[in-house]
Amino acid sequence: MPSVRVRFAPSPTGPLHIGGARSALFNWLFARRYGGTFIVRIEDTDLERSSRRSEENILAALNWLGLDWDEGVQVGGAYGPYRQTERLGLYRRYADILLQKGYAYRCYCTGEELAAEREALLEKGEVRYTGRCRNLTAQDCARLEAEGRKPAIRFRVPEDNVITVNDLVRGKVSFECAGIGDFIIMKSDGIPTYNFAVVVDDHTMEISHVIRAEEHLSNTPRQILLFKVFGWKVPEFAHVSLILGKDRAKMSKRHGATAIEQYREKGYLPEALVNFLALLGWSPGVEEEIISLEELQRQFSLERVAKSPAVFDLDKLNWLNGYYIRQASPDRLASLALPYLEKAGYLSTPLTPEKYEAVKAMTDSVRNYLSCLAEVTEHVKFYFADQIEIEGAEAGEVLSWPEVPAVLSALKEKVAGGGEITETGAKKALKEVGKDLGVKGKKVFMPVRAALTGSVHGPDLNRVMVVMGREKVIKRLAEAIKNI
Ligand code: GLU
Repeated sequence: MPSVRVRFAPSPTGPLHIGGARSALFNWLFARRYGGTFIVRIEDTDLERSSRRSEENILAALNWLGLDWDEGVQVGGAYGPYRQTERLGLYRRYADILLQKGYAYRCYCTGEELAAEREALLEKGEVRYTGRCRNLTAQDCARLEAEGRKPAIRFRVPEDNVITVNDLVRGKVSFECAGIGDFIIMKSDGIPTYNFAVVVDDHTMEISHVIRAEEHLSNTPRQILLFKVFGWKVPEFAHVSLILGKDRAKMSKRHGATAIEQYREKGYLPEALVNFLALLGWSPGVEEEIISLEELQRQFSLERVAKSPAVFDLDKLNWLNGYYIRQASPDRLASLALPYLEKAGYLSTPLTPEKYEAVKAMTDSVRNYLSCLAEVTEHVKFYFADQIEIEGAEAGEVLSWPEVPAVLSALKEKVAGGGEITETGAKKALKEVGKDLGVKGKKVFMPVRAALTGSVHGPDLNRVMVVMGREKVIKRLAEAIKNI
């Protein structure tokens, strides 16, 4: 394979979305897999909708996902600048070449004239530009300019051509030029259109493979036409299928969060999202669905990218995230959880070393219950609460069993009579209480758990007792006995 140079070319008109992140990931993986170069180019020619804020959001999200780029904005490179608004002179120069060679012409139609034309054509079921300005003479141009009209530049589409895209994902796709219509390459304000800027950039940046979303497939014949009239090498194309919601409608806000930052805020781990995004349209060809970024770099190929749409399955993302949360070291888990605990008002940072160790033990004890870190507050709530709230009818019912006062009192005695609680100590104490009172295990564990946590479900009880500490355990048991 000739040297691989691929790009992620977002329009900074909003935050980085799931679809964009997947395009970035596939490009990044492709570059890493083949020892190529990954470029980030900012396509900010839509002056009204583009902003630096969106650009920063997109770049921050890429960084967070662990997708570094070799060339582009922020890092520079030999093919820069990498922001389209800083390349306007280049587009103008290439547009002039097309004008001189007759591949493009000046179009003086106003927005209103074009809208009226479109409306009239729509009635006939057509939509393309009729080519009214195609054959203007120099005098026509001078007259129109004297009227104060500013020309746009249109590309002259050769009528009877068929353009075939040999797409690396979709296979052969053909387009009739007759359906395309002469399209604008430079607007009257001197700003290039997407299709033109992208071609000039992909050529001058020596892009070898264009990997992008399927919605750009219909733009591809226009871009190929431009590559051809310039006599430039056409890059390879790979159009990655749409992302649908579970209801098979195109993924939108209706299906849940679409921006990467929203997942970050909820406490999804970058490795979970990367794993999830990789499986949106690509498959490793084996059952195993847990794949690290390192492994993906070794395995990724366009051959395994599916033609059919990918389905966004939030349950799967939650499952993957739960897996990666369980893999995180106790320190990482604690530091990831801290902002949520702080926001919930459970603590304020910086913590003393002892408090930090306590938080680490707490978060570690509930990790199995989390599918994202925002859920941590709910699960560790009982550790922090001054008073336990009995949750649900079941816990109340359990605490009304006749043997409960004796069980709780006996355990309280044991804990009070001993030192700091250890896991084996807690286990032993619970067992002995049952034995001493002639009460079965469940009749001990369930009320003790309800008394300590307010719920009959939750993390390992021995663990809970250790993390809660002797003093609090005694206090909670006493309170529960009093309330019965
Ligand atoms: N700027 C385009 C977008 O954000 C990218 C198009 C391309 O990759 O060619 O959709």
